[in-house]
Amino acid sequence: MGAINLRYALRTQLSLSIMLIVLLAVAGISVSANVLVARQFEHYILRQEQNKAAAIAESLASQYDPLSETWNADYLHGVGMYALYDGYIIRVFDRWGRSVWDAENHDMYLCAQITSEITTRMAEHRPEVAGQFVSQEFALTANGQSIGSVAISYYGPYFMSDADLQFLDALNAALLTIGALSLIVAFVVGVLLARRISRPITRTAYIAQQISAGNYAIRFAESSTIRELNDLMRAVNDLARGLSEQENLRKRLTANVAHELRTPISAISSHLEAMIDGYWQPTPERLKSCHEEILRLGTLVADLERLTQSENEDVTLAKEPLDLLEIVRAVCETAEAQARQKDIRLSVSGESSIIPADGDRIRQVVGNLLSNALKYTPEHGAIQAEVYDYPACGEISVEDSGNGIAGQDLPLIFERFYRAEKSRNRKSGGAGIGLAIVKSIVTAHGGTVEVESRLEQGSRFVVRLPKG
Ligand code: ADP
Repeated sequence: MGAINLRYALRTQLSLSIMLIVLLAVAGISVSANVLVARQFEHYILRQEQNKAAAIAESLASQYDPLSETWNADYLHGVGMYALYDGYIIRVFDRWGRSVWDAENHDMYLCAQITSEITTRMAEHRPEVAGQFVSQEFALTANGQSIGSVAISYYGPYFMSDADLQFLDALNAALLTIGALSLIVAFVVGVLLARRISRPITRTAYIAQQISAGNYAIRFAESSTIRELNDLMRAVNDLARGLSEQENLRKRLTANVAHELRTPISAISSHLEAMIDGYWQPTPERLKSCHEEILRLGTLVADLERLTQSENEDVTLAKEPLDLLEIVRAVCETAEAQARQKDIRLSVSGESSIIPADGDRIRQVVGNLLSNALKYTPEHGAIQAEVYDYPACGEISVEDSGNGIAGQDLPLIFERFYRAEKSRNRKSGGAGIGLAIVKSIVTAHGGTVEVESRLEQGSRFVVRLPKG
């Protein structure tokens, strides 16, 4: 439910935000365009009116015949009527002030009609202009001589024709259309964008729910082009993978512990049963064999305790400067007798490397690596322990000419109770805890442990411990 609400909210909020931004932008552009255009247009019309009045006066003057001191009556009439239809009511006087042509005399009805049309149109569309008909007089001259005057009366300060108003209406309609289209586009883009963001989030919520319900196999197959979402999806995938590995490890661990316990316990119980039932005499050898199995169990428990101890994060390391070469030498000395028994050549070489570390634990690391090398190297083999000093770390390497480890086992040998298949049934093998202890001690020191190995050729374990 929560996921659905989130998607809904995110989608709505995003689309609404985008639409609001576009709405504000379009409204802003429309208003400012209207104001600007209207103002420019008014200026333009005002200039046009003055130019027109001047043009009328000029064309009237050009039709004056100075010889007969008369006007071309037809032309006068044409100019007058033409001006009238444009909203200019003119009256022409001769030099002596006598009326030569008067629009109102000529067609009073038409004049009244045009006047009222303009007044109504302007009152309707531009009430703020609050104009009225004004009259302007121009002197008419020909060759520098006064030939009369013309009184032009028009709606001032300016008026608009139907075509002018249509132009402004068309402009507004265009802006409105652009606005509406932009809103639709904003809506579609908003919805698509919101879906692109909300879908992975919804899916993440679903996958997180599945993970918390124990379904660790679930993964994001898809990816997002949005970097943050991609990171989120990858993090959830990593979480699922990590949990699944942990879960597998836990299962394996339980199975291995059960297996390790079952072998000695069933051996002891079958021996004891046979003795209780009287099939077997409780000879010292048989009792010794039972005792050995019990000792194996004891070693297993001790190993487990040591592992828990070294994995306990609270455990404080008693760090002091140590020479790794000295430690390796000392541990090898104690193993010499064992090596000699198997006729294994055990050598130590390298240089001093002083590292701040917990002596007892590092000794245990070297001891475990060495005892493994001895365990898994057949007779007449060789083991080489080396120490190298680097600027940032010290390195211990233990190389043997033993059985080696199969490729598929390599990533697992540091796990608790893991034993490579070959050494599973061997009596010589331990419980599979030695390397887990090595790893946890080295990790607690901030170091790393690596292994290279080839079957039947030998193995090389490398431990690196940091100086700082
Ligand atoms: P174990 O007690 O069985 O030796 P470890 O944790 O020390 O347990 O080692 C895990 C497994 O890794 C062993 O069972 C063995 O198969 C393999 N292994 C470890 N060291 C070596 C080595 N030097 N040569 C070959 N195999 C090794």
